[in-house]
Amino acid sequence: MVQVAFTTHSTEQTMGLAQRLAEKLVEGDVILLEGDLGAGKTTFTKGLAKGLHITRNVNSPTFTIIKEYEGRLPLYHMDVYRLAESDEDLGFDDYFYGNGVTVVEWAHLIKDYLPAERLEINIYHKGDDEREVVFKGNGKRYEKICEELKK
Ligand code: ADP
Ligand code: MG
Repeated sequence: MVQVAFTTHSTEQTMGLAQRLAEKLVEGDVILLEGDLGAGKTTFTKGLAKGLHITRNVNSPTFTIIKEYEGRLPLYHMDVYRLAESDEDLGFDDYFYGNGVTVVEWAHLIKDYLPAERLEINIYHKGDDEREVVFKGNGKRYEKICEELKK
């Protein structure tokens, strides 16, 4: 496991960090986002979408669990908050092992279905506009991404 942490001081900085990550992503990548309500998980996802040249507006998929967007790579945006510790398998593997990038907000709620190799991102609310964004790479590919983000 390789870990790297950043402090951001604005919405734009968090999106910028996500855009840096987006440039490094390839098909089949899985990103897990954790953090309290309002921490910035959807904001981070908007930055990823921008970095993947997605022009449609990305918002939290409140009434659907999964939304798909077309860009340099397809982006599968899941918000599993409403599943609340559900053991319902919605065919997650089709996304995780599909040809796009999958981002999961509140990923721990479907922990039994998550691949072992993934990039975990925890966002901590530090102040009005201050956030700590901690990346944990599990598996060689994501460890390399974390090393690159340190540069
Ligand atoms: P979540 O999806 O984790 O519930 P959102 O991304 O929907 O959170 O909301 C985060 C809110 O905090 C947004 O209104 C965003 O503009 C604001 N914000 C303020 N500062 C930051 C920052 N440094 N990083 C991310 N979001 C921030
Ligand atoms: Mg959200």
